[in-house]
Amino acid sequence: MRKRRVYKSKNKGEHFGVFFNDIVDDATAGDWSQVCSSCVRKHGFPKETLDQYDVDKDTLCGVERCDNIAEYFITFYRGYDL
Ligand SMILES: [Zn+2]
Repeated sequence: MRKRRVYKSKNKGEHFGVFFNDIVDDATAGDWSQVCSSCVRKHGFPKETLDQYDVDKDTLCGVERCDNIAEYFITFYRGYDL
């Protein structure tokens, strides 16, 4: 039986001046979370950090105090530290 990959989740973190409460620590892709389109507009996240997210319809936005359904993956440090 294949072992499911377990992601280590950090509690909180600040990226682009916004606090996230659901950040996944991924050694391969870099830390990532997921965000809703309302937060994308509100916080102006860089377009190159976003990927359309339509796999799972019940994942909540990772921005602190936001409970919308997430629509995008957001990958931190993409194009900066990798
Ligand atoms: Zn949101």
